[in-house]
Amino acid sequence: MSSRRRPPKHQNSYAWKPNAGVKINEKEVGGKLRPYSEITGVCPRCKEQIDWKRRYGKYKPLREPAKCQLCSKRNVRQAYHNLCSGCAKEQKVCAKCRCCVNQIVGRDSAEVEEEQKMLEEVGLDIFSYLLVAFSVRCYVYFDG
Ligand SMILES: [Zn+2]
Ligand SMILES: [Zn+2]
Repeated sequence: MSSRRRPPKHQNSYAWKPNAGVKINEKEVGGKLRPYSEITGVCPRCKEQIDWKRRYGKYKPLREPAKCQLCSKRNVRQAYHNLCSGCAKEQKVCAKCRCCVNQIVGRDSAEVEEEQKMLEEVGLDIFSYLLVAFSVRCYVYFDG
């Protein structure tokens, strides 16, 4: 029976899986109950890098806001970012590698908020404009 082939001693009987053997807390960021937030404010290359970390379980989300390397405020809310969204936007650079880029992935929430505020203000302006226009018309009507 010496011709019978024995399986190699260290056979890989299972495919390597990220997080194998690591218990994932579903309530933690990245778990099923708290999916990662969208990667925003970075160039496509950095997004790819962060995405890679997430996929292979090497992503470490921030536990508290990190310090921005430009304004030194604790304003950085996304892991692996070096700049806060405000500075990155002002400098028009990627929040991670700080390279000057035209293409930034995603829209940061501050920008969306600002836009919404602006829209609200514009809406109010139109309302007051209509109000003024209406009262002027009334005035003209009663005067004439
Ligand atoms: Zn900053
Ligand atoms: Zn980048």
